[in-house]
Amino acid sequence: MKIICIGRNYVDHIRELNNAVPSSPVFFLKPDTALLIRNRPFYYPPFSNQIHYEAELVLKICKVGKNIQKQFAHTYYDEIGIGLDMTARDIQDAAKQKGLPWAIAKGFDQSAPIGRFIPKSDFPDMKNIRFHLDLNGTTVQNGNSGLMIYDFEDIIMHISQYMTLRTGDYIFTGTPAGVGPIKEGDKLEAFIEGEKLLSCMIK
Ligand code: MG
Repeated sequence: MKIICIGRNYVDHIRELNNAVPSSPVFFLKPDTALLIRNRPFYYPPFSNQIHYEAELVLKICKVGKNIQKQFAHTYYDEIGIGLDMTARDIQDAAKQKGLPWAIAKGFDQSAPIGRFIPKSDFPDMKNIRFHLDLNGTTVQNGNSGLMIYDFEDIIMHISQYMTLRTGDYIFTGTPAGVGPIKEGDKLEAFIEGEKLLSCMIK
């Protein structure tokens, strides 16, 4: 199982980090050891002083595929959930400046909390899925799949040109604006269409 994450997929988030709008989807990987499931607590890692949350819609891949054509891409995922692309922003910024990879900044243990998944068939429109993230009871991120630069099908088509998708893989589809730091004692709660699917205490 692998976790593939799309970066820079919402214009408002690209602006808040002063990045350029990409001409094709930007993606990176997290290892399977990054997964954090069943609403388990996130332990603040000792090697960073600036862990950021990034709430993202997550696709669960349901069959093997390579070089997937756009018109068939929708058949390769069957569930949608919400996850947190936890990011050591201080380590990422240092890596960016030196042109080095993001493996530590994005792939450390517990850097991919995921919540409960919902069957795709429960959603009437893949281009209008609302989601939000609360930090200590206050909404800090609001997103809608309709605001993504690259939609689910574009993402699946693009990734599968380079990496075979397999059953059980997860795709994080990018975060909207509002990313920010966490500290010990914080509580993150993530929702799709108002339904809470993920809760994560920071310890
Ligand atoms: Mg992200």
